[in-house]
Amino acid sequence: MLLHPLPWPDGKRLGAAITFDIDADSLIRNARPDDGYLRLAPVSMGRYGPTVAVPRILDTYRRFGLTQTFFMPGWVMETYPATVEAILKDGHEIGHHSWRHEDPMGHSDEVEAELFYRAMDTHVRMTGRKPRGYRAPVYNATPGVIGRLLTEGFLYDSSLMADDLPYLLQAPEGEIIEIPPHWGTDDWPPFAHFEEIGYLMPVRGPSDGIRAFIEEYDAAMEVGGFWMPVLHPFLTGRLARWAVMERWLEKVLEAGDVWFAPMEEIARHAASHRDLLRVDTVDGASA
Ligand SMILES: [Zn+2]
Repeated sequence: MLLHPLPWPDGKRLGAAITFDIDADSLIRNARPDDGYLRLAPVSMGRYGPTVAVPRILDTYRRFGLTQTFFMPGWVMETYPATVEAILKDGHEIGHHSWRHEDPMGHSDEVEAELFYRAMDTHVRMTGRKPRGYRAPVYNATPGVIGRLLTEGFLYDSSLMADDLPYLLQAPEGEIIEIPPHWGTDDWPPFAHFEEIGYLMPVRGPSDGIRAFIEEYDAAMEVGGFWMPVLHPFLTGRLARWAVMERWLEKVLEAGDVWFAPMEEIARHAASHRDLLRVDTVDGASA
């Protein structure tokens, strides 16, 4: 059961958004600023995302008539302008995902603000508008980050995990819709192996890894909830993994009882049912 059920548009049973974080080679360059550029293997692993996987994912979305959300660090947008252009051309949303994937807890809030606004400038210049949503690198949103989102008029954050469904996060600066991720629908645990940043995992087979996301989907569908995988093009956008996802997506779209939408639309829908949402708070002063 769900403590705070939310009705979905058109009588659909489930709300859903497939989100891709296009981190690309920002990960290795940020983790190893002194010699990351010499480490061609992890650089190439990241570059596969915007250059090979994203065109594949966009092709699937076009054939299935899906409009979804991609989160991009500002540095990645600047480095891969053709990827930004292709995503926007197909009508997808691009959310704020830091400057170069710096962990907000890895430096002072002053430095974090500078990086945040550098990425904001990139979004405005390359997309023609301020982003409506944000996801923190490694989900590490701080009270300072949430405060800045509110000051800048963001509609939603997607970093915190206090419910199964979109909820309301109250902070001293106001309130924002939180669209919660969690590690069970993140593709790092099953698919990432990244020695340079200390992430050593046994890589799962495509169906085996994706099965966990499907089980999350089935559980959410059973109670009329919400499903949002957090995927990375250089991981789930690989040939065999995306083939499994694509085959499964085709089936669920045929069944027709799910509302897939970009995060911005999901946040607007949740905001229009404000009274039904769980309320959580950020206490910046005493946190
Ligand atoms: Zn990321």
